[in-house]
Amino acid sequence: MKLQQPIFERMALIGMGLIGSSIARAARAQNAVRSIVATARSPDTRRRVAELGIADQVVESNAAAVEGADLVIVCIPVGACGAVAKEIGPHLASGAIVSDAGSVKGSIVRDMAPHLPANVHFVPAHPVAGTEHSGPDAGFAELFIDRICILTPPPGTDPGAIDRLTALWQAMGSQVESMSPEHHDLVLAVTSHLPHLIAYTIVGTAYDLREVTRSEVLKFSAGGFRDFTRIAASDPTMWRDIFLANKEAVLEMLGTFSEDLSTVTRAIRRGDGDTLFDIFTQRRAIRRSIAPPQPTERAASFGQPHPEAPEEPLPRPYASDQE
Ligand code: NAP
Repeated sequence: MKLQQPIFERMALIGMGLIGSSIARAARAQNAVRSIVATARSPDTRRRVAELGIADQVVESNAAAVEGADLVIVCIPVGACGAVAKEIGPHLASGAIVSDAGSVKGSIVRDMAPHLPANVHFVPAHPVAGTEHSGPDAGFAELFIDRICILTPPPGTDPGAIDRLTALWQAMGSQVESMSPEHHDLVLAVTSHLPHLIAYTIVGTAYDLREVTRSEVLKFSAGGFRDFTRIAASDPTMWRDIFLANKEAVLEMLGTFSEDLSTVTRAIRRGDGDTLFDIFTQRRAIRRSIAPPQPTERAASFGQPHPEAPEEPLPRPYASDQE
């Protein structure tokens, strides 16, 4: 159900790809903001956003976008957020909430916080929702429904600012959770970043073996492997930045994963069926113990899937693990 009163007067979106354009569509659909001003790096994207009519105003610079905004959400690759924070810092309105959508949180806090004036509220956020598509045409208003949005506000952040941003994400259909940036990065390293690394790697391995498999790899890639190829179609800039920004946590999780893989490898090499059976039985039990996500009350009444939504949304857990 649409909100009676907008939560924010003027939302500035910097970066209008999948996430920025989805926020624009969802916030407008829910009357969560009174007006939306958008900007993007390239003239092509700005022109397309204007054509799509998903913002009230499209401006050329980041500084112009944030003027007078009571909410600013930076929706660009994590490696670029520090420079943008530096650029917008002097132009932010007093009392504004500054947030982001980055898939890594430690580096965002490190890179953005020093450039933000004391009279604004910094509430980093990560909507754990996405697809492998990019750009303003890829966004859709329902992207965040029944997904989790993780907030990582620094200690001492004004609770009122956290409440307002929470209300926005809830209005867009998400369940909101708070945690420290470090904890976020560790959890996402194993649930999202590692699966993407595996997908990127296995698709390359299969491609390298195309002579051996006589190009049948993709022809017979039903189910799991097809999902790997779809995940591997994700934006390379975004994922490069994620692995650079979350290096320590990813390397730690990769080490643990490699050890587990060695156990399975050894069992296969030794023909140790009992070990394989035990491992697979235990893993099946883990899967079965994971309860399906509970739709929130608001999300349940949010509406039908958008007609422009990608035909094949990523299955859980990958859909909820993108970035
Ligand atoms: P996207 O569709 O590729 O869009 C990226 C946007 O950032 C575009 O508007 C692009 O501008 C702009 N941009 C790229 N490099 C830039 C730079 N160096 N300086 C300024 N602007 C730049 O990406 P997205 O999927 O929306 O991702 C945006 C953020 O959300 C990322 O931090 C990502 O980690 C996070 N996230 C993504 C997902 C996901 O599944 N995709 C999920 C959750 C969170 P132009 O179009 O003008 O080039």
